[in-house]
Amino acid sequence: MIIVLRPEATEQQINHIIEKVKKLGLTPHVSKGTERTIIGVIGPEDVLQITPLEVFPGVERVMPVLAPYKLVSREFRQEDSVIDLGKGVKLGSKKLVVMAGPCAIENLEILEEIAGQVKKAGATVLRGGAFKPRTSPYAFQGLGEEGLKMLKKVGDELGLVTISEVMDTRDVGLVAKYVDVLQIGCRNMQNFNLLKEVGMTKKPVLLKRGLSSTIKELLMSAEYILSGGNFNVILCERGIRTFEDSTRNTLDISAVPVIKQLSHLPVIVDPSHAAGKWGLVAPLSKAAVAVGADGLIIEVHTSPEDATSDGAQSLVPENFSSLMGELKTLAKVLGKEI
Ligand code: PEP
Ligand code: MN
Repeated sequence: MIIVLRPEATEQQINHIIEKVKKLGLTPHVSKGTERTIIGVIGPEDVLQITPLEVFPGVERVMPVLAPYKLVSREFRQEDSVIDLGKGVKLGSKKLVVMAGPCAIENLEILEEIAGQVKKAGATVLRGGAFKPRTSPYAFQGLGEEGLKMLKKVGDELGLVTISEVMDTRDVGLVAKYVDVLQIGCRNMQNFNLLKEVGMTKKPVLLKRGLSSTIKELLMSAEYILSGGNFNVILCERGIRTFEDSTRNTLDISAVPVIKQLSHLPVIVDPSHAAGKWGLVAPLSKAAVAVGADGLIIEVHTSPEDATSDGAQSLVPENFSSLMGELKTLAKVLGKEI
């Protein structure tokens, strides 16, 4: 249920409703908009049905949320959510956010080199995996905590926000200690215990769409994080499995406007994992921006042929830089900026 308050509702009236809702064993989630406050009430359907929430002073109306994802839905919050990533970077506004860096952190020297180049081209977030979800157990699994230390060092030196994947509930505290944004990879989109764990932190979370997941399933997974109290969620379309085999995955470009209709959460696109080929990264990035993505996450490597993972889809810094130039022009046409 959503309780929409009158614009003139007082702080006292709002607190009174929150207390009553809690006493009924329901969970209130307050969202303060520019004009009015709304309170999302989550709990068992039977209790919600018989509770006359409209009688409280300050209430304008009470509406059921029809979507199965409640806090994530546009019904719950009409305005677009803007997520503060720290270091002055906000995601979900007119300013597009580009995250870039290697698939995996390999060593400090390479990371510093790549980070310097992507920063120069206009990226504000440095990506780099320290815990890598590899299909083969014999493939490079990542540097673990050593890698996270390198990422933090380079991010702090250059003033870049950092993002890295967390694969295991036991590592959430460790990864959160070093990075600004926690990434949940596509393979873990429905790892519900992991979602609950990151929901208990206040860190921004980038939630990637599962390989074979519907948009509804992605939004239900995001609901796990929000219902834990963490509203700092960014969704990511990174390509899905289809019958088409000329790309690594099929970028579901329509996911961006569809999610924007259904949810207030920001959406970014990962053209690298969608394409699997560096030559497709630029056109897919432009398509993503054109359909309204709030940002991009792109793999960049100074020497793709030597990369420990995903070299084939990594842009060299020169190509990344020219793509950023093209995106700048495109953003302007759309009333946005980079
Ligand atoms: C990655 O970002 O390197 C990654 C493994 O992504 P995904 O979970 O989308 O495959
Ligand atoms: Mn990768």
